[in-house]
Amino acid sequence: MRQISSFATGEWLGPGAGAKPISSAITGNVIAEVGNDALNVQSMQDYARDVGGPSLRTLTFHDRARMLKAIALHLKKYRKILYEISFDTGATQSDHLMDIDGGIGTMLVYASKGRREMPDTCVYLDGPPEQLGRLSNFMGQHVCTPLQGAALHINAYNFPVWGMLEKLAPTLLAGMPAIIKPATSTSYVTECCVRLIIESGLLPKGALQLISGNIGDLLNHLDCQDVVTFTGSEKTGLMLRSNPNLLANSIRFTAEQDSLNAIVLGPDVTKKMPEFDLFIDEIEREITAKAGQKCTAIRRIMVPSNRVDETIKALSNRLTRTRIGDPRDPKTNMGALVSNEQKSDVLAKTALIGAEAERVFGNPDDFTMMKSKGAFLPPMLFYCANPDGASNLHKVEAFGPVSTIMPYRNIEHASELLNRGKGSLVASVITHDTDVAKDITVSSAAFHGRLYFNNRDSMSDATGHGAPMPHMTHGGPGRAGGGEELGGIRAVTKYMQRTAIQGSPDILSAIGRKWVPGATEVTGGSHPFTRHFNDLKTGDTLHTVSRQITLEDIEKFADFTGDKFYAHMNEEQARANPFFPGRVAHGYLLLSFAAGLFVHPEPGPVLANIGLEKLHFLKPVEANDSIKVQLTVKSKAPRNDQYGEVKWHVALTNQSDEPVAEYELLTMNAF
Ligand code: NAP
Repeated sequence: MRQISSFATGEWLGPGAGAKPISSAITGNVIAEVGNDALNVQSMQDYARDVGGPSLRTLTFHDRARMLKAIALHLKKYRKILYEISFDTGATQSDHLMDIDGGIGTMLVYASKGRREMPDTCVYLDGPPEQLGRLSNFMGQHVCTPLQGAALHINAYNFPVWGMLEKLAPTLLAGMPAIIKPATSTSYVTECCVRLIIESGLLPKGALQLISGNIGDLLNHLDCQDVVTFTGSEKTGLMLRSNPNLLANSIRFTAEQDSLNAIVLGPDVTKKMPEFDLFIDEIEREITAKAGQKCTAIRRIMVPSNRVDETIKALSNRLTRTRIGDPRDPKTNMGALVSNEQKSDVLAKTALIGAEAERVFGNPDDFTMMKSKGAFLPPMLFYCANPDGASNLHKVEAFGPVSTIMPYRNIEHASELLNRGKGSLVASVITHDTDVAKDITVSSAAFHGRLYFNNRDSMSDATGHGAPMPHMTHGGPGRAGGGEELGGIRAVTKYMQRTAIQGSPDILSAIGRKWVPGATEVTGGSHPFTRHFNDLKTGDTLHTVSRQITLEDIEKFADFTGDKFYAHMNEEQARANPFFPGRVAHGYLLLSFAAGLFVHPEPGPVLANIGLEKLHFLKPVEANDSIKVQLTVKSKAPRNDQYGEVKWHVALTNQSDEPVAEYELLTMNAF
């Protein structure tokens, strides 16, 4: 029998007082023991705050991103250990791919986003600087810095690896230590994953601790620098979020709860269209994957009234082929529920649904595996002819392989039914009609964290109704908990404080390590294009000489490029245009001439021009006007150990010093 430990203040502590048995989902036999009421949770919080936090905060976002990548690759190397141990939760090999490989993949996405979208510093800039005064001497900038406490992650049982890693990755990237509290019934899988991470030696001390068992009175010790995230049932969520200490100290609390997710078959879809099979595929997968124990699983199926019979028939045919059994058997495509308690809970909930809907597929009373000691159930499909009069159907989550079909009259009615779940994580619409997608977005998006549209054009690439992607937010309003996770860097900022910084351009430039217009420029010395990445400093500036633009230049450029737009070629027609005083130079001519003014021609550390951003033409340039350029190093970001990206602020002005164009130029510079 496994003894499931906690990892507290740098030590593994086996189960002690208050330990509870955990049974295998497949055999019902006790396989592990977990829990230690004697854990000193206060010292765990102190250790996270005093040891883990300071170490993480000395690292830059790029250092932390590299650390995440190394952890993810380490877990990938040893993932078979996690597969093996996860079978006892009732999960099949394809369920492991969602939980284990999905969790590792999420961590890798954060590692990559951290390098690409965050700076190689410890302060994250949220948006551009704002000019607050009349002149540009007093500016504003939103910045995010890591909270200085601990993130307590309380997770649900159904994704013991993904559920931990999808929260851990943004927490560590932000620079905050985490204390993980997995659900007891699958805590042995999380414990194994935490052991792999700790044994890798890749994390600083105190960055990760684990509570296997209950959290004692930890919630009462937290303060304004701590964060609590919760994933689980509505009931537990309500109890935890009502903790007086959390309320009194405005401690951040994010909840991801159960929800009555739905799918709609578009009114445009007939049985002969590819969308119909796609609809059936999505539902079959959502009912059988993880034996329906997915927070995003489809619980309600809405079909046009005239498609009810064919939907029941097609789905029943599909579900007939479900092979239920020992998840270690490769022929099995639906394993067991996590425990016999969970199985009883699902049966009690299906009784409530059965009071309002007729069972059309899957009868537990006529299911041979019902007598096994494992927590097996058949997939169950219900049909409710009057969904408007039903209440349980839109309220009760049977967290297992259970779903209910219901008819709708028109799109407005489908939206009403969708919204009766009072807040869900995801709603899917299978349609090839863009107007249906538009109408449902307007009438229903406010009730759902994610809307998933799929049809023949997207199906080969689509990621599936039930899969939260790290790039997109995961969470939903109301019943779904009101929380938001993932969504790229948005998730990282949940573990940081956003502060509005106000001050002079020099102060803002120093804090953000990014040059702000109006800040001191450093001129003189060698041409900046002759300096290597490490020798360039933000604020280094080149002022070029002026160049006059003649009518001949404009005509030559038009001939050479073929761009003979009338505003460059015909005085009268140009004058009739409200934007131009007469014939003007091409914008691209200005960019080309600007490059001619600032580029250093010899081979040197500038390896390539990789693009320009935020280009604005501010004032037309006529023949005989002249332009000059100011080129300033705005920010730098290393890409590898050979070169890095330099962002240059480029400002073009005319003979009267009026701005005519502005943009950001990106170059790759050798170290
Ligand atoms: P649960 O019973 O609500 O438990 C969730 C977590 O809360 C577990 O770690 C549990 O630990 C812990 N907990 C319970 N009482 C606590 C207390 N007094 N103090 C501190 N922690 C406490 O939910 P579950 O059965 O594990 O998960 C199934 C539910 O989660 C379903 O309803 C599902 O829809 C939902 N879910 C939602 C999402 C989402 O992203 N929205 C994802 C997955 C699952 P113990 O196990 O030790 O009691």
